[in-house]
Amino acid sequence: MLSLNGQGSRRRFLRGGVSVLGVPLLGAVGASAAEGGVVTVDTATAVDAERMRSLIAFTMLTMDTPHPIPYGAEIFDSTTGVSLMRAVNRVSEDHDPSGHGEIVTIRKACAKLQARLLKGYTLYTTCEPCPMCMSCCLWAGLDRVVYGATIEDAARFGHQIMIPSVEVARRTDLKCSVTGPVERDRALELFTNAKMRAVMKAWK
Ligand SMILES: [Zn+2]
Repeated sequence: MLSLNGQGSRRRFLRGGVSVLGVPLLGAVGASAAEGGVVTVDTATAVDAERMRSLIAFTMLTMDTPHPIPYGAEIFDSTTGVSLMRAVNRVSEDHDPSGHGEIVTIRKACAKLQARLLKGYTLYTTCEPCPMCMSCCLWAGLDRVVYGATIEDAARFGHQIMIPSVEVARRTDLKCSVTGPVERDRALELFTNAKMRAVMKAWK
């Protein structure tokens, strides 16, 4: 497993008093609900881990394309478990700074449903949503967000905005539960892939 402490995050990372580096369960961590907000942080299930592994494998397919990317997302019906949409980050392909994996997937899912809200749906993402994406998850009314690698993990490989998804979710009256990290080591393989590293160097 990659060191999370030794190489350290470059910037102070706010966790808002919610520990997500506690006891691992299926590669995931559950923590108590954050105080002062309506966000809940729940515990990953075996189904969460299975879906995350599948999403990571889907995202890994980009390594053999002209646009390798470690960021993929998938939206499932929270009740039936049926997959509604999955997609990867398209920032480079679309010349769109907002084209993160979560945003692209939410846009496509809403277009498919011809709806502006995704209540009753859960979003999985290979990396913890950035503040922009977590805000979009909240605006979309998603029930739940489940992530793989953490923002701290991603920050070791490129620029990030160091506000945890839980912190974003806590500062609103919109309800959404957050779970992660799930299958963190496997998600990190997206970042450490040799083809991905080569592309990331070009990003800097
Ligand atoms: Zn994002």
